[in-house]
Order: sequence, then structure tokens, then C-alpha cells
Amino acid sequence: MTPPEIYSVRSHDSLANSPGWDIRVVPNKFPALRIEGTVEREGVGMFDRMSGIGAHEVIIETPLHDDILYRRSDDGMVLLLDTYKKRIDDLKKDIRFHYILVFKNEGERAGASLSHPHSQIIATPIVPKRVREEVDGSLEYYGYKMRCVFCDIIREEKRFGTRIVHENASFISLCPFASRFPFEIWLLPKRHMSGYTSMTQQETIELGDCLGVTMKRLSAALGEPQYNWMLHSEPNRSVPRNPWPDVGEHYHWHFEIIPKLTRVAGFEWGTGFYINPTPPEDAADFLREVDVF
Ligand SMILES: [Zn+2]
Ligand SMILES: [Zn+2]
Repeated sequence: MTPPEIYSVRSHDSLANSPGWDIRVVPNKFPALRIEGTVEREGVGMFDRMSGIGAHEVIIETPLHDDILYRRSDDGMVLLLDTYKKRIDDLKKDIRFHYILVFKNEGERAGASLSHPHSQIIATPIVPKRVREEVDGSLEYYGYKMRCVFCDIIREEKRFGTRIVHENASFISLCPFASRFPFEIWLLPKRHMSGYTSMTQQETIELGDCLGVTMKRLSAALGEPQYNWMLHSEPNRSVPRNPWPDVGEHYHWHFEIIPKLTRVAGFEWGTGFYINPTPPEDAADFLREVDVF
């Protein structure tokens, strides 16, 4: 019942768009952006408009409707994380797309309109505001320290240890200092890498472990909370006049995981400040102590 698939992994000799798949990627039936056309920009008086060109894909994570990937198997997680990689690599070739965002909405409060386990990919013709702020911020830091701010954060968090949730050879998850939301978690590769697709196969397996364990802890601590996760990777470097020629030096990819526990309200909308009732140190402590089955 979906549109024809863009990508799939199949265990048997099954044909595209037929049963026998482990993971499938299809175009979104109700896309936020259209794939066909050129990016047109126009001025409307003092205002600016551009055409809504981009890609909007849905990753169907498993054939099982009630499956929770991080509970079932490590293989399922690795397959999902590898599919993220394959789709980003493919979409990057289209130089109309300045950014490719992978994200997951789990539960109605997190914005999910379907209950079957899925992630989404949206390729946009401009670099989104939040990403631009991160990339510009990391460049500014690099400008006076000649170091990656994210690598520095990892070093500092390891020195304190109080905000770490889980760690393996290649990845670390932590509740960031002065985080916006209760139980907000960031997950970063320990090796400096600006782009998600630079990850090796071994690192993908370790990411599966780190994300899997982190999600199990979060789910045990909060009782299967609704959440969003977003993958922040470098902007597409193949675009003409790339504004960040040194992005490989100063940016560092990561996941942000945000359980839906509080509501963004007047104060937050009005100021861009966030009131977080749970200090990240307490959240991390709780996540480390919780029994995981
Ligand atoms: Zn770094
Ligand atoms: Zn980020």
C-alpha cells in the first residue's frame, strides 16, 4: 500500500515491492517537499520565497508492526543505522540538497502520525537554522582554539563522568551540560568525524550498541516514553559555493534524543530559553542506575 520502494534489504530472492524484506525506504505519501523541479528564488516586496524542492522519505524499520528495534536485536539496529548511511550517501549526490536530516518521531506527542516503526529523511534546499547555528558555532570555537568543540565536550565529560549515560570503544552517550529538556541525551562518536557516512562498519556496529543500550535505559527509566531523535551530520559538501570549506575540521556529527516529557510554552517560545526541571546530572545518574532487562 506504500509508494514504490527506493531501497530495501531483503533476505530472500524476493522482488522489489513484494514481501520478504527486512527494511524498506519509500517516498512519503504526503511529502513536505517535492523532488521534481529546480530551486527558484524570488523576492516578494521585502520578503523572500523559494520553491519547496527536496526529498521526503520514510524508512520502514521492520515488517513487524509492534516491533521495538532496540529491544529485539542488535542486527536490526545496525541495519537501520546502515540504511541511514546509504540514503544520506545517495541524496548527497543531488547538489540541490544542502542538507539531509534523518529523524524519528515515536508516539503521537512526538509528532508521529503512523504507529508502525519508522524513521524519516528530509533533504532540504537550504541548511536548517539549528544546524547552521551549530556549524557556525563550532567554526567560531575552532577559530580561536583550533580544536573541535564536540571533541572538547567529550574530553571534559569523560573527566567528570557525572553526565555520561553509556560508553563503548567508539561512542558515548551523555546528558549534555545545561540541557534544554529533561532526560535530553546526545550520542557522539569518540573519533572526530564531521559526517555520519564516514563511519566504518565496525563503528556502525558499536553505534548500534550505544544507541540500543541508551534507548533501553531511557525506556526503563521513563516507561517507554514518546521521543524524537535527530541525526545532526555535516551539511552537503558537494553543493556549489559551500560556505564551510573546513567543516571537516570543526564540526562533529551526533544524535540528539529528546523524550517528550515537558511542553514548550509561552516562556520558551518568547525567549528561546528552556526551563528544565531535571538537571542533566540527576538524569544521567538515574539512567546509569536503572535496571535494564
Ligand atoms: Zn570532533
Ligand atoms: Zn546537534
